Amino acid sequence: MTAQALEQRDLAVVIGLEVHVQLETATKIFCGCSTDAAEDEEPNTRTCPTCLGLPGALPVLNEGAVEAAVKVGKALDADIPEQTRFHRKNYYYPDLPKNFQITQYDAPICQDGTLEFNVEGERRSVAVRRAHLEEDPGSIKHVREGTRSLDSRTVSISRADYTLVDYNRAGTPLMEIVTEPDFRDPSEVRGFLAKLEQVLEYLGVFDSTRDGSLRIDANLSLVPADEIRDDGSIPEDILDEANRTEVKNISSHKGAEKALAQEASRQKTLLKRGKTVKQETRHFDETRGTTVSMRTKEEEKDYRYFREADLPPLEVAGWKETIEIPELRDARRDRFREEYGLDAESASKLTSTKEVADFYERVAEAFDPDLAATWVADNLLGELNYRDMTVEDVKGRLDEFARLVELVAEDEITTKNAEEVVLRRMLDDGMAPDDIIDEEGLSKADDDAVVTAVEEAIVENPDAVEDYHEGEGGAINFLVGQVMQKTGGSADPGSVNGMLRERLDE
Ligand code: ADP
Ligand code: MG
Ligand code: ZN
Repeated sequence: MTAQALEQRDLAVVIGLEVHVQLETATKIFCGCSTDAAEDEEPNTRTCPTCLGLPGALPVLNEGAVEAAVKVGKALDADIPEQTRFHRKNYYYPDLPKNFQITQYDAPICQDGTLEFNVEGERRSVAVRRAHLEEDPGSIKHVREGTRSLDSRTVSISRADYTLVDYNRAGTPLMEIVTEPDFRDPSEVRGFLAKLEQVLEYLGVFDSTRDGSLRIDANLSLVPADEIRDDGSIPEDILDEANRTEVKNISSHKGAEKALAQEASRQKTLLKRGKTVKQETRHFDETRGTTVSMRTKEEEKDYRYFREADLPPLEVAGWKETIEIPELRDARRDRFREEYGLDAESASKLTSTKEVADFYERVAEAFDPDLAATWVADNLLGELNYRDMTVEDVKGRLDEFARLVELVAEDEITTKNAEEVVLRRMLDDGMAPDDIIDEEGLSKADDDAVVTAVEEAIVENPDAVEDYHEGEGGAINFLVGQVMQKTGGSADPGSVNGMLRERLDE
């Protein structure tokens, strides 16, 4: 197809993703070094001869990483082969001291999966071509000379005076998930990534709060819109012919949508002017919101893939059957509606993360599902959100929270006090609900004692009652005094006054 022809035709966006996901394991994929990065750790402290790529050091495969990959495969409804194996992908870069990355090539751990997700209320489904295991390289910092902190001197490569390498990340297990070119709009990419992260977090194999835990390479091309078949698919030859670019190292959902929208319009402008799109790798500059050319796209043959002889092929036949995965979000949301009679919105909110869903379910089982829904979905999540906290932060206090709901359920305190005083102090002061109630005198039992004292004061002092009805101002103060005496001074004089008037004016 010539560019000439493209100028006059309507063009449609085609996108395919390669998503790199850091799997949560205790140790690295081929050695015993920890994957747990302390916030202020020194560079090159979590390393050993294997992840430093020293000559003669041998890799030992981490079973936990394979298990995590099988879980992902099951969640994506993918095929897991009888046998999987590893290859060397050869290239030189300072973050990869062995000069090759151990990855998978012709027998990846997962093939032919799918992921369903929603975009603006519409159900979409994207095919996952393959998902394979590999090791993360180290990380690189380009730095300018100076005396200020290192972070403030970290710059782009073109402005740098020198470069630092940190191998702490080297050997972190990655799963690379490669989709078919099934996306037709950048907004779909965002929906897909959100859903993928949610699935991975439900599986307990991923931590989205970790820096760099999700890194996306996105391929984008434009094809003539009239080539798209009615079922939305595009003929192979059209896809192969289309010149595409790969936008590298996008790290957020929003960034992906922005980078791809920008790249789509850049390509459209070129084609509409009769120019061609160069096949190349482009880098997304998140702060400027534009993509810039990095290099011509490398091809498979550039990497001289060959079998990793230091790792024998791994028999994984049967792993899919023996490794279990938890109930995932969609299924859980449907079950919550059915089992606890929740409306769509609450069920959605209460399954937003596995932690929230677990928390809700434990409270619901202890008491009333409706009350638990209100308390977790509205009150607790609202107050946590206000404090920039999550359910994770109160995970160890489930019993205390359940106790608060119990106190409300059993009518021991008013809902208003529970919401506005007890819950807030639980979060702000870390106190247990019963202690807060004691300290603040919020128990309804206390209220009941005041009500009884009011009744007694009225019955025992008919003269004062008569004086009150005849408009004598001092009578009410006398009665308040009586009630205060009976309650040992614990009641609030203002509210006693109100309660007395209410009763006397009946
Ligand atoms: P390569 O051999 O260059 O790595 P692949 O066919 O293996 O290319 O696909 C790599 C990625 O590019 C996949 O995510 C795939 O969905 C995507 N892709 C393939 N063809 C297109 C296209 N025409 N437009 C956009 N993305 C595409
Ligand atoms: Mg790759
Ligand atoms: Zn190591």
